[in-house]
Amino acid sequence: MSAHNPSTSSALAALQQRAVLIHERLCAVYGCPIAYFHNLDPLSELISSLLSHRTRNADSGRAFKALRRQFANWEAVRDAPVADVMHAIAAVTWPEQKAPRIQQVLRLISDRQKGDLTLDFLVDLPVPAARAWLESLPGVGPKTSAAVLSFSQLRRRALPVDSHHHRVAIRLDLIPPTIAVGPAHALLEAQLPDDWTAQQVYDNHEVMMLHGQRCCYYQNPACERCAVLDLCRFGQAKLQR
Ligand code: SF4
Repeated sequence: MSAHNPSTSSALAALQQRAVLIHERLCAVYGCPIAYFHNLDPLSELISSLLSHRTRNADSGRAFKALRRQFANWEAVRDAPVADVMHAIAAVTWPEQKAPRIQQVLRLISDRQKGDLTLDFLVDLPVPAARAWLESLPGVGPKTSAAVLSFSQLRRRALPVDSHHHRVAIRLDLIPPTIAVGPAHALLEAQLPDDWTAQQVYDNHEVMMLHGQRCCYYQNPACERCAVLDLCRFGQAKLQR
């Protein structure tokens, strides 16, 4: 099939069908629905997401807890000496960049919301408007905006794409290898049925990510035990070598 140039509606329909089939197979392996791993308010989810960039989950989780423990609220983080914030988040990659960035974002949100430091108002915006609002903040791209809307208590319909998800989508011909993670968000979300719930979209991200972590490894994927081998030209070619 021509999976790389969905310029026609039939090509998109074929990709949608393929994406759903892959989703169903992976759901059978990893167990859908998958429990949400966070239940944070959207501002806390944003901070968590900013901390997690290029950082192991355990380390960003430790830094997030340290921030919550050492500061009374997000206003206190916003107004603290940057060195104190940097010290609190020392467990993450690039704390010297992330601390001033987090404070900048907190100040911008306060300013735009006339002193009200919260993102709870996003619940009243349509998803595209909420994503655009978030992506107007420095350091916030499509992955972070989708994570805030999907993973937080907002539980909105938005598809984050991490590096595992991205790699699996390329190997399964859902997107061309030349598409970077950022632009992959819109393409992959367009392949999911319009009537899917937020939970189903979340499940799609989770199963694609889990597949990348547990089977479709960056180096030496375990194609011989893969549930979608029959759909994967990459894996079939690898096994024939
Ligand atoms: S067959 Fe191999 S390359 Fe293809 S999705 Fe499965 S593990 Fe990844």
